[in-house]
Amino acid sequence: MPGRPRWKIESPPPAEYAFGYREPPVSGNAINGHGERAERRAEPVFHNADSSQPIAWQGLDDFFMCVNPWRVVRHRLLNKFEMREERGPAARRRVDEGLVGNADFAKAEARAAGATLVGIAEVEPTDVFAGKEAPHPRAICIGLPMRREEMRHAARPRGAEEVMRTYRQIGRIAIRMAKAIRRRGWPAKAYGDPNATDILHIPLAIRAGLGQLGKHGSMISREHGSNFRLAAVLTDMPMALDAPVDIGVDDVCLRCRRCVLDCPPDAIHEEKQWVRGEKRWYVDFDRCVPYFTKTYGCAICIQVCPWSEPGRGEKLSDLVLARRERTKSRSA
Ligand code: SF4
Ligand code: SF4
Repeated sequence: MPGRPRWKIESPPPAEYAFGYREPPVSGNAINGHGERAERRAEPVFHNADSSQPIAWQGLDDFFMCVNPWRVVRHRLLNKFEMREERGPAARRRVDEGLVGNADFAKAEARAAGATLVGIAEVEPTDVFAGKEAPHPRAICIGLPMRREEMRHAARPRGAEEVMRTYRQIGRIAIRMAKAIRRRGWPAKAYGDPNATDILHIPLAIRAGLGQLGKHGSMISREHGSNFRLAAVLTDMPMALDAPVDIGVDDVCLRCRRCVLDCPPDAIHEEKQWVRGEKRWYVDFDRCVPYFTKTYGCAICIQVCPWSEPGRGEKLSDLVLARRERTKSRSA
């Protein structure tokens, strides 16, 4: 953007991989369904919370845990410990305020607990990993920003510490929400583990209206750009659903190349790709994840994205949506 300083990650490590397989595993892109035009469920490939289910890239995942310093691992272990309360018995007496009343309750609880983004969506089969079941049909999706100053240290341990601190914090928010819903007599399960569990957070959060997918393969919201993390609570409580939003992400991503240029291993596709029956933005797994592992979770692309600068997302969204309207009315 003209007139603004370029937000930089200082000297990111080079894209030379610190980890090599003797026998390379199946391509993560093939597991993810890159190039597939038929719809199917996703399969876990990396960062899998279910240790009973072997994944093709387990070696790299284990390596990721080994390279992270204690101050990062500490948050991860405490998150694991705290998530033991993800489930629990529901109260016998049920409170039902109807679709809107129940949704208002869930959202107020999320905000009181500290979530800054919240929306509700129905869980669809493609939101659930192959071989898993969603325990409840509705999801309350929540988002929490990371501290931008800490994320200046992305691709280094200090940035990774902020990522894990945020995941731990949002995990606690999800637990508090699930408990509050259970106290009203509705079963609820918190999903606050940063590793893949039963569900895919991004498609749910998009349908819940938290934001849109960006070219860098992460979500973009009006409020925080990509500088936030997701968690969710699944429940039987009936609630009014939210709708997906159009904040103009594609209008910007079709012209902007910032994440493409700044991604050290050149992992970001310029064009939308077919992935399991949907044409969407996609990041090359086999290029990104080894670098991601070497750099403590990387996060360069989400930090350099212009939407992530505090206070800019809303202005950018208003600007591109107004421009779109002007173009439409001129060509009408
Ligand atoms: S997280 Fe992956 S896609 Fe993003 S900048 Fe790092 S290597 Fe590139
Ligand atoms: S950096 Fe630019 S192209 Fe990449 S996701 Fe952000 S807006 Fe889109």
